[in-house]
Amino acid sequence: QAKAAGGNRVVFYAEDDMSEVSRTEQLRVSLRHAPAANALSLRYQPLYDAAGRLRGVEALLRWRHPELGDIPPAEFVPLAERSGQIVRIGEWVLAETCGMLRRARAKGMPPLVASVNLSPLQLRVPGFAETLRRILAQTGTKPEWLELEITESMMIGADEGVSEALRRIRAMGVRIALDDFGVGFASLTYLCKLPLHTLKLDRSFVRHLGSQDAEQVVVRTMIALAHELGFEVVAEGVETPEQLRLLREWGCDFFQGYLLAGPLDEEAVGPPLLRAARELFGAAGERLEPA
Ligand code: C2E
Ligand code: MG
Ligand code: MG
Ligand code: MG
Repeated sequence: QAKAAGGNRVVFYAEDDMSEVSRTEQLRVSLRHAPAANALSLRYQPLYDAAGRLRGVEALLRWRHPELGDIPPAEFVPLAERSGQIVRIGEWVLAETCGMLRRARAKGMPPLVASVNLSPLQLRVPGFAETLRRILAQTGTKPEWLELEITESMMIGADEGVSEALRRIRAMGVRIALDDFGVGFASLTYLCKLPLHTLKLDRSFVRHLGSQDAEQVVVRTMIALAHELGFEVVAEGVETPEQLRLLREWGCDFFQGYLLAGPLDEEAVGPPLLRAARELFGAAGERLEPA
């Protein structure tokens, strides 16, 4: 029949859709067992200051699926948010990261700032601040060693409970960072309202640095604005020496990206890491060494 080709196309698309659905479904189901199966783990990506000194690490969640292999957080975090599991997983991330800080000190590391990504759902759970206080106490973590990363999208439709939770966290002395800054909505409005310590410039701004004047103006202005508001600035996604050079020249405070280090196993968070990026920063311009 003349319709055969069309029929085949329909079948092809139908199968394609089904495999998409079943992958999501399969992930959704196995995610329920992931914490119990020890399938979740953390990697830690270093952040350096303008002199090449280690400031801290960002905890990044990993999930190794028994059949499908490594699933990126961009794929499974939204699933865990939809099922509500992210609340318990997020608690585990906090406790595990604080445990890592204690083990790092035992290995002779100076106090580091550990950044932990927060899901909006976690802030909406009543008692989050108390949970956080308990985790800090149980792991012997000083509040200022922890920095919670929130995003602008988290604040959309946020009720008074979320703002109150942030204020209580801040009052405890825990640091708060706005992640992926510049790609969300109403950025400038939230800058004045949120109790922030740190702005993380989204890596989409860092990516094209050096190529166009207009992009340079935007990034320089964002850094200046953040400083005027009293925030520290982290550049994420630093991949080239030229990006590092420009960002340092413009007064960016901290740097994170594959040029310096990717996400590492906990074993790597030890004394050798303190010297790891020294040469890169030296090569990027000694005259910029702060006094
Ligand atoms: P994010 O918080 O913006 O984390 C930075 C992401 O950029 C990480 O991806 C990191 O591996 C990647 N990255 C670091 N340096 C570079 C670079 O130089 N170039 C490029 N292209 N990428 C770089 P990852 O680990 O896949 O995480 C993706 C997102 O998943 C995170 O974005 C964060 O929003 C979310 N996420 C990760 N861990 C957690 C967690 O424990 N809880 C929650 N709620 N979300 C998490
Ligand atoms: Mg982050
Ligand atoms: Mg980020
Ligand atoms: Mg980002």
